[in-house]
Amino acid sequence: MSQSLSHPALSAADPELAALVGAEEQLQADTLRLIPSENYVSAAVLEATGTVLQNKYSEGYAGRRYYEGQQNIDQVETLAVERAKAVFGVEHANVQPYSGSPANLAAYLAFAEPGDTVLGMALPMGGHLTHGWGVSATGTWFRGVQYGVRPDSALIDFDEVRDLARKERPKIIFCGGTAVPRTIDFAAFGEIAREVDAVLVADIAHIAGLIAGGAHPSPVPHADVISTTTHKTLRGPRGAMLMSRASHAKAVDKAVFPGLQGGPHNHTTAAIAVALREAAAPSFRDYAHAVVANAKALAEALLARGYDLVSGGTDNHLVLIDLTSKEVPGKVAAKALDRAGIVVNYNTVPFDPRKPFDPSGIRIGTPSLTSRGLGTDRMPLVAEWIDRGVQAAAKGDEDALTVIRGEVAELMAAYPAPGLPTA
Ligand SMILES: *Cc1c(COP(=O)(O)O)cnc(C)c1O
Repeated sequence: MSQSLSHPALSAADPELAALVGAEEQLQADTLRLIPSENYVSAAVLEATGTVLQNKYSEGYAGRRYYEGQQNIDQVETLAVERAKAVFGVEHANVQPYSGSPANLAAYLAFAEPGDTVLGMALPMGGHLTHGWGVSATGTWFRGVQYGVRPDSALIDFDEVRDLARKERPKIIFCGGTAVPRTIDFAAFGEIAREVDAVLVADIAHIAGLIAGGAHPSPVPHADVISTTTHKTLRGPRGAMLMSRASHAKAVDKAVFPGLQGGPHNHTTAAIAVALREAAAPSFRDYAHAVVANAKALAEALLARGYDLVSGGTDNHLVLIDLTSKEVPGKVAAKALDRAGIVVNYNTVPFDPRKPFDPSGIRIGTPSLTSRGLGTDRMPLVAEWIDRGVQAAAKGDEDALTVIRGEVAELMAAYPAPGLPTA
C-alpha cells in the first residue's frame, strides 16, 4: 500500500489512521478537485508542516517572547514576515492568525467595539460569514449591515455600498468574498471608506495567490488592513495573515496576541514562509495567470453548453453556475458530480429563491487543476464532464456517473499532483 511507503511511522503506530490518510491521498489523486478554496500544496510546504517546530511555544513576537529557546523560531517567523511584506508590498505583516476566521475577528478586535456597526457583503451574495453575517459571532457581537450585488449584472452595487456607508457610518468596511467571480474594485471601496472614516479591510482569502502572481489588482494602497488565508490560491498551509500599513501594526499585533490567541503554530509559520518563497518565484506568476486563463476557458465552454453563469463569466479563479434552467438543484448536482469524481460545492446564487442548505447553484474553480498542470486545452473536456454529470443527475443515471468517474481518473493519472505520493 502506498501509505506505508509514504508514512512509515504513522502506518506502524496507527494503521487505522494511516489507512485513512492513504485513502485521502488516493481520492485527491483520482478526482478532479474543483472547489475554488482548495489546492494542492507542494511537498516542501507539506514537509514544513510536519516538523518539530510544532513542539515549541512562542507566545509573543520575534525578539519579544514570553518563552525562552526562540533562537530558531524567531528567525522562522521573521522570514515569513519579511517574505509576506515583499510578496504583497505591505509595510507590516502578522503571520500568526490560526486561520481566516480568527484573522478577521482580530480585525474587529483591533478597530471596533462590541455593538459597533460593520459593513460587509451579504453571505448569500458572495460574502463571508465573518463579514458580519447573523449566524456568525461577528454578526451578533457587532451590528452587521450588508451590501449585495445588482440584480441585473450580479456586480457589486457601489451605489448601495456608498449609501449604506453614509447612512450607517460603519467602523469597518469589509470587501472581498467567497463566491465573487469578478475583480474586486479596491479603489472604489477605499474611496468610500475614506469618505466615512471607516477602516477598510480587504479580505483576499480566495484571491491572495492571484494578487501575489499579478493576476488580480492589489488592495495596496487602498485598504487599511489586508486579511488573507494562506491555504487557498496562495497554496500554503492552513493558516492566515493580517497585513497593514505601519500605522496600524501595533493594533493588529495586539489584537492577534494577546487579544485573541496564545502561542503561534510555528510549523504553520514555517510552511507559510516556504509558500511565500514559492509565490515569489517567476513560475508562480505563470501559475496565477494560468489559473485565471483556465477559469475563463472553463466558463466559455460552459456558456457554449447553455449554462447560466452568475455575472456571465469570470475574471478570477472561480465560476458560479446557476442551475435553475437545468432543473437540477445545486445539492443534487454536487452530490452526483462527487460520485463522478468531480468535487464541487453547492452554493447560493444572488437572489436565490431556494434555501441556503439546498440552493440553486454550484461553485467551481481552477486552482487545484492548474496546480496539476491542466491547461486551457483541457477545459472543454472538464465542461463536458460537468454537463454530462448534471444531465445524469437530472435523470438519476448512476451508470453515466460511473463512466465519467473512470474517464476522470484516467486523465488525472497523467497529471501528478504536487505533494502526493507517486504510486
Ligand atoms: C475562506 C475564507 C475565510 C475563512 O477562512 P477559514 O480559514 O476557513 O476560517 C474568510 N474570508 C474569506 C473571504 C474566505 O474565503
